[in-house]
Amino acid sequence: MAGMLDGKTALITGGGRGIGRATALLFAREGARVAVADMNLDGAKETVAMINTAGGQAMSIGCDVTKPDQVAAMIQAAVSAFGRLDCAFNNAGIAGYQVDALGKKTADWPEAAFDRMIDVNLKGVWLCMRGELEQMVKQGKGAIVNTASIAGLAGLPTSSIYVAAKHGVVGLTKTAAIEYAENGVRVNSVCPGYIETDMTRDVMARRGKELMALTPFRRMGRAEEIAEMVCWLASDRSSYVSGANYNVDGGFMAG
Ligand code: NDP
Repeated sequence: MAGMLDGKTALITGGGRGIGRATALLFAREGARVAVADMNLDGAKETVAMINTAGGQAMSIGCDVTKPDQVAAMIQAAVSAFGRLDCAFNNAGIAGYQVDALGKKTADWPEAAFDRMIDVNLKGVWLCMRGELEQMVKQGKGAIVNTASIAGLAGLPTSSIYVAAKHGVVGLTKTAAIEYAENGVRVNSVCPGYIETDMTRDVMARRGKELMALTPFRRMGRAEEIAEMVCWLASDRSSYVSGANYNVDGGFMAG
């Protein structure tokens, strides 16, 4: 049976674990050749080994998405290896606890935490989009998927700047979708709810009961469940979809 991404090439940031890794594995199973990028090169290499062991084709790239030169080199490396870039998943991101903002309300976020959060979760996405769009416009075709969040659609207490960055990702997604429609490039985002990854381990330990009470499914999502949506958005099956932000959240945003 044909794979959803047969013959396609893809680039995934934050592919060393969590949602990025699950998506890289699914993309490869669906027939794509995948460039797995991460700041943690060992993680990316592990993902690549998993893909290659399963008979897929992948390569690893070390890249910090906040560094313009590294982002440009990452895109160049993927295009050199594969000849073109059909799909890009801009997924690398960090949570509040990684910038010393755990449990802090809006006025209490340290300025350095604000800067780092915006740098990784918003500017990092834009830097990747910039290079990907340039390549995809040249090709006359491409599909970009950004990882936003339910935090890109609603306020979440003590996550102020994370929320601001993810709303920014939604804004970038919508605007680029309008601008590049004429170039054959589709741009969408996925908005995960609470997903079982390293990122949520701490918040679930502290507030799991409360957060699951707000989630109609009463369970966390799995990274593989996000990957399914990303794969569809990256594939030609979503050929008339652009500028959309798809919730994959066990019903959270319906509340
Ligand atoms: P993980 O922490 O499991 O994975 C994030 C990956 O991104 C890690 O491999 C990390 O590398 C990498 N990364 C972090 N900063 C950078 C950077 N500057 N440059 C390159 N790579 C970087 O998180 P998830 O898989 O859970 O999250 C993936 C995305 O999904 C994020 O954008 C997150 O905001 C979003 N999201 C997650 C939700 C969840 O419930 N888990 C809910 C909604 C959205 P390293 O290993 O070095 O840290």
